Amino acid sequence: MSFEKFKLDAKIFAGVQALGYKVPTPIQLESIPPIMESRDVMGLAQTGTGKTAAFVLPILQRLMQGPRGHIRALIIAPTRELSEQTHKAIGQLGRRAQIRSASIYGGVNINGQITKLRDRVDIVSACPGRLLDHIQRNTIDLSHVEVLVLDEADHMFDMGFLPDVRRIVKHLPAQRQTLLFSATMPEDIRSLANDLLTNPVNIKIGHEAPIETVTHHFYPVQMATKTALLKDILDKTEMESVLVFTRTKSRAKSVALQLDKSGYKVTSLHGNLTQQKRQHALDGFRDGRYEIMVATDIAARGIDVTRISHVINYDMPSTTDAYTHRIGRTGRAAKTGDAFTFVTGEDAGLAHSLKRVLGEKLEYHSVAGLTTSMPVDDGSPARRNSSGRGMKPNNGRKLFATKARPNIRSKQRSFDSSNRSQWAH
Ligand code: AMP
Repeated sequence: MSFEKFKLDAKIFAGVQALGYKVPTPIQLESIPPIMESRDVMGLAQTGTGKTAAFVLPILQRLMQGPRGHIRALIIAPTRELSEQTHKAIGQLGRRAQIRSASIYGGVNINGQITKLRDRVDIVSACPGRLLDHIQRNTIDLSHVEVLVLDEADHMFDMGFLPDVRRIVKHLPAQRQTLLFSATMPEDIRSLANDLLTNPVNIKIGHEAPIETVTHHFYPVQMATKTALLKDILDKTEMESVLVFTRTKSRAKSVALQLDKSGYKVTSLHGNLTQQKRQHALDGFRDGRYEIMVATDIAARGIDVTRISHVINYDMPSTTDAYTHRIGRTGRAAKTGDAFTFVTGEDAGLAHSLKRVLGEKLEYHSVAGLTTSMPVDDGSPARRNSSGRGMKPNNGRKLFATKARPNIRSKQRSFDSSNRSQWAH
């Protein structure tokens, strides 16, 4: 099964080839045909499944027909990072087709965005707060929007953005195609979908429940300290084979390189590898030549799980379901497993959602000199600003509290050798 089946315009197909995509992922196989037929789609899929291209490719295909220079597709995303990623994917897939997009989010000067919007773009990828700002200032014209995408809708709900989304939708033409992607389907998302989608095609990919047998360890950490913390955990914990997840290909590569330089038996798996190198990495990980594999979500698809004893989320996944999916690689075969997750200030919102899902199975840890203090958990849904860079500043609530709760601290494990046996399986 190849991308040729979709009969994409040659200029868009060139983008697919430039990115090295050979086989469509399941969400692409199921979503691209109905989206190309202008159907509304509700996709239950997590990040890492290839969902961005699943909606970007049919949108690009649609834009090949008709006028250019008006905003004809609007993508709403919960975080600045996701908005940028989608903008980048459009740039890469749509380069030959000369389709122009803009990314709109808070936390940066609005004037540059106003100039860019005046400069005639075809697609806007935006966070809700700043988009509303533009609407109120009359600096964006949404009257030509033909396709609306709500990406990571459950994450938007977690962050308290749904009222903003509903306000934005009122400014769009009623006659349009609407696509909603979400990793989970809580009641509020279901009701949003009921209100916004017409006779949608429902697509469900890789939805899993958290694995009961896994213990989840969270480490509050700053980005710059992650590699030192990773080495510390690898040194102090008895691990058979470890899968380390990073968010990007380049980080997978650089983390593997740093571990290699420090003498670890490590390989990496990411989209840039030739089939031969990929096979070499996989074989080496399976037969134990490499104890550590550093991979991105999509590259890790199809990895044989039987020997994986530990998963380390060097970068937090984007959704609770993506977390479950990653962790599903341990525990299943070994019956028990451990998952380590590095949580930076930016991840506080998702850490909060995960805490609700994982409950008592979640333990916070600190390592002297490497971790920061614990994330605040005041029981209220985390609310980010539209820059996606964390909670609103100066709202009287610190991201990481200095007064740690005693019950969390008492749960900390010390990773000295006398404690190692509890990590072995
Ligand atoms: P997403 O779930 O959209 O965030 O995609 C995750 C990663 O998978 C991104 O790095 C994409 O470039 C990559 N990707 C998407 N579709 C494919 C495909 N068909 N083959 C290989 N990589 C893909």
